[in-house]
Amino acid sequence: MYEFAVTPAVTQIRRRGVEISEVVDGSLGAELELEPGDRIMRVNGRVVRDYLDFRFQSGGETDLVIDVRKRTGEDWELNIERDEAEAFGLSFEQIVPRQCANECLFCFCKGNPETARPSLFVRDEDVRLSFLYGNYTTLTSITEDEMRRVIEQRLTPQYVSVHATDLDVRAYLLGVDQERADIRAKMRRLIDANIEIHAQVVLCPEINDGEILRRTIYDLAALHPNVSSVAIVPLGLTRYLKEERLTAVTPEFCRRTIREVGEMQRDLRARLGTTFAFLGDEIYLKAGRTVPARAHYGDYPQIEDGIGMVRTFENMFAALLRKLDRRSGAITRPSGKALCGTIMTGTLFAAPLTAMVTRLNERFGTSLRVTGVDNDYFGGDVSVAGLLTGGDFLAARERVVGDFAIIPRVALKSDEPVMLDGMRLEELQKQFEVPLYAFDFKQFAAGLEAGFAREPALVEAA
Ligand code: SF4
Repeated sequence: MYEFAVTPAVTQIRRRGVEISEVVDGSLGAELELEPGDRIMRVNGRVVRDYLDFRFQSGGETDLVIDVRKRTGEDWELNIERDEAEAFGLSFEQIVPRQCANECLFCFCKGNPETARPSLFVRDEDVRLSFLYGNYTTLTSITEDEMRRVIEQRLTPQYVSVHATDLDVRAYLLGVDQERADIRAKMRRLIDANIEIHAQVVLCPEINDGEILRRTIYDLAALHPNVSSVAIVPLGLTRYLKEERLTAVTPEFCRRTIREVGEMQRDLRARLGTTFAFLGDEIYLKAGRTVPARAHYGDYPQIEDGIGMVRTFENMFAALLRKLDRRSGAITRPSGKALCGTIMTGTLFAAPLTAMVTRLNERFGTSLRVTGVDNDYFGGDVSVAGLLTGGDFLAARERVVGDFAIIPRVALKSDEPVMLDGMRLEELQKQFEVPLYAFDFKQFAAGLEAGFAREPALVEAA
């Protein structure tokens, strides 16, 4: 008899095959009478687990035998001859991420309020998502099957959270035993198979900084070029992450880290021809420093981890000013009135953005103002724009001056105008006395370049 009733986690059920979600009209898939809801079970006798398998097993093949389970329950065998370049015109269900089996001291899931969107609690640890989207995995629970798949299907690059090469420290940070924490053999196997690795360190003061960080950087640098870069991002504490073993990242800590890592970067650039170990933008901003120049970042290998975003933004802003310089006169509303509004952003980015906007105002007669919005939803030291919520913007609305307000597009879900606290953009807009827009840089630049000729002058959020 069971002591507890166990409810299965229905969201994690993996059915065999991969489900088709869309079929393009007139495509090969449509010709084969494939429909949404059908599942592809095998290609040329090989089991298909997800759309990556389908892509891998059908790629480059002209003669195919595809086993399909129709949504009606019927089984079909399709014998296909196609041109090599002919696409099937199929879209598939999303990959259900594998979950991690770690208990990291700093896990972001523990730092979420209970009301946060369910997706923020997904503890994914999945080599497929690492390859597809640059999600980091720790490799602690990678199976033999997954390892073989990465190698066979060339799922490269892989993004690996190393945190520390010192085994004691890594095990301590991940909350696992040393045997699981030890990924040296797994890294070696990936490297021997020519899988490129980008590494990450979540920097926790007094745990993996100082000498531990130096050893981590140099141990990983010894694996260059197979390990091609290391991202060093600061620990983020929210009001919900109550972990006494963690120490907050301070401006002084950031300045010391820039000094110490700066020396290693110079040494590594001379020896490897790349900065190799990149510090997160937050470290420079929190230290009150400007971010490094473009050349420091090379081809921005860790941009998916947010490293070099500020530099990219500043460069785009400078290019925009040059472009605007080529047109003549001030930028005004169609009525001839000065362009006057407020840009809301995270407190961390407020200072550099203010400096950029000041240059814009001085050159083009605009009256744009930047206001840094506190993050009350997550609290702690969370200060980036992307984690601001509807409630945070509302709490700062008294500080809006001018005819409109802009919030960063990145505060909305990528596929829906909804913020992390569940508030929809329309709901927030209704509570502002002036028009409120959610912009990314491109939308903002497009508005300015057009001289805000349209009314409403600014582009609505997608
Ligand atoms: S690997 Fe660590 S930080 Fe990532 S989800 Fe798992 S416990 Fe959280």
